[in-house]
Amino acid sequence: TSFEAIGLTPELAAAVRALGFVKPSDPQVLAVPALLAGESVAFASSTGSGKTLAYLLPTMQALRQQELSAPSLGRQSGERAKARPRALVLAPTRELAAQIGAVAKALSQHIRLRVRTAEGGTTLRETILKLENGADLVVATPARLLLLHQRGAVSLREVRHVIIDEADDMLLRGFDESMRDVLRRCPPRTGEPPSPQLAFVSATLGKAVQHVIQREYPDVRALIA
Ligand code: AMP
Repeated sequence: TSFEAIGLTPELAAAVRALGFVKPSDPQVLAVPALLAGESVAFASSTGSGKTLAYLLPTMQALRQQELSAPSLGRQSGERAKARPRALVLAPTRELAAQIGAVAKALSQHIRLRVRTAEGGTTLRETILKLENGADLVVATPARLLLLHQRGAVSLREVRHVIIDEADDMLLRGFDESMRDVLRRCPPRTGEPPSPQLAFVSATLGKAVQHVIQREYPDVRALIA
């Protein structure tokens, strides 16, 4: 199957091919169509299987399509002080956030989107300066993102897509409070659309994680490979 056959536009398909990939991997075949359809989902995908692109490709395509229908999105204010990202990728560790950020930035060389990382590896000042140039997608650890939010460097009111990577760690092992705090600062999920699309991605989607997701985010559908 081809990247176009799973629903990607010629622009995104060309971008991923420019990274050297010839056809979608299994988690990409599984997750890309559901995410492009706007569904909130949970899926398991082991590291190295192509899970990062499985959520980045449809998310970045959605961001591009939002811009085509509203060209001023995220750029309207002329105010440089605050980034208003429309997509967030949350990861539990600085290393993972940096890795995801590198993949997103590589893709953004081929499609015009502003990707920023906020993972605590660089100084807060550096991150704030980069955010002042605007952001469409932010890859962050929850604690760092909350700090930037507190400082007024980022608004989460325009967020439409939230991806939680290593969801088992994020939901079960101590990152849950800061992750929930981030979600609370995004538009509400109960109200009228656009309420943010959620994607939980995890190496394994064990019973315990599935249970938490079902209880707290009942509209999230588990994708089974
Ligand atoms: P992950 O950590 O699961 O995102 O996997 C990333 C690894 O999978 C990297 O080595 C990528 O180069 C590779 N990868 C991602 N997508 C594809 C694809 N469609 N075909 C082949 N390799 C891929």
